[in-house]
Amino acid sequence: MDTIPFNRPPITGREIDYLKHVIDSGNLAGDGPYTQKCHAWLASQLGSPHALLTHSCTGALEIAALLCDIQPGDEVIMPSFTFVSTANAFVLRGATCVFVDIRADTLNLDETLIEAAITDKTRAIVPVHYAGVGCDMDTINAIAARHGLKVLEDAAQGLGATWRGQALGTLGDFGALSFHGTKNIVAGEGGALLVRDDAHAEHAEILREKGTDRSRFLRGDVDKYTWQDVGSSYLPSELTAAFLLAQLEDSQAITARRLAAWQRYRDALLPLEAAGKLRLQAIPEEARHNGHIFSLVLDSEAQRTRVLQALREQSIQATSHYVSLHASPAGLRHGRASGALSVTEHVSSAQVRLPVYADITESDQARVIATLCSAL
Ligand SMILES: *Cc1c(COP(=O)(O)O)cnc(C)c1O
Repeated sequence: MDTIPFNRPPITGREIDYLKHVIDSGNLAGDGPYTQKCHAWLASQLGSPHALLTHSCTGALEIAALLCDIQPGDEVIMPSFTFVSTANAFVLRGATCVFVDIRADTLNLDETLIEAAITDKTRAIVPVHYAGVGCDMDTINAIAARHGLKVLEDAAQGLGATWRGQALGTLGDFGALSFHGTKNIVAGEGGALLVRDDAHAEHAEILREKGTDRSRFLRGDVDKYTWQDVGSSYLPSELTAAFLLAQLEDSQAITARRLAAWQRYRDALLPLEAAGKLRLQAIPEEARHNGHIFSLVLDSEAQRTRVLQALREQSIQATSHYVSLHASPAGLRHGRASGALSVTEHVSSAQVRLPVYADITESDQARVIATLCSAL
């Protein structure tokens, strides 16, 4: 029986041509022509005023935390049901994470609980668009405006998805995308920072290039570049950008195939949800998602263990995540929970993620569904 992997990156075939072009050019470092093409693609296709490639979404979140001017003792509101990078970016600046529960339907930050978590130390809200399903950005942006807070969207999983027709990552002050090998559109390791206003974008360019104005120099705006501010090296090489450009150019087709696979699971499992056997992720009317994750939530951790075991016995690589940040060793030191995080704790203990990728076959999906149904 062939193994059904959890994930397989979508390779378009053009990556190798673009990589060869970079190798032949001899210019391997960052911010060359392929990086510029990726910037232009992201800006035009996502409708973002400014887009900067980074070596990871983690790097993009770190730049954004610097742009938010986070100081030791500041507080940042985020879900506990997320990847560690969401929190690390701010903890590196000395901030405390204030964890808010997620909604049981969308698995996104519960916008009705945000205001109760705000104190006079709060500086930013970080909505994480789980599985590429948009958070309620209307409510979150309104709360942020009322309290003078920055909004940084962790849109690591959000490329190709929208909220009310606007690309995820472009609705807040900043957005961070990931092109990690496990995401929909990949570069091995890679990410991007989307920035709304011009002053922040100019500052971001400096932070990303070791604190120098090398970007201005490359554009010919200044005749030498100098150390302007604290910063680090967040840019990817041209090899990464070349690989990524091939992926971005095919991203609509890749997303469409993922969505088709996602929908096949959905259609097959809706009757089980109606029978109360599991809970599927709800997609709000305003959200167009990208099929990044197929998530289902069971009744208990024991049931989850049985289901994952049954899938494993059929050589199906299913998985789960996240170990809640508020209950993790570093989360206990660097964060606190705002109120009870009961949905987070339940989902974190009873969720199953099914294999989903652009070229998963219908027969493999049928095997996953049959195994799942017989294990429930
Ligand atoms: C993948 C992911 C990240 C980190 O992305 P990298 O590109 O690997 O740094 C951050 N946040 C979320 C929600 C993610 O899923």
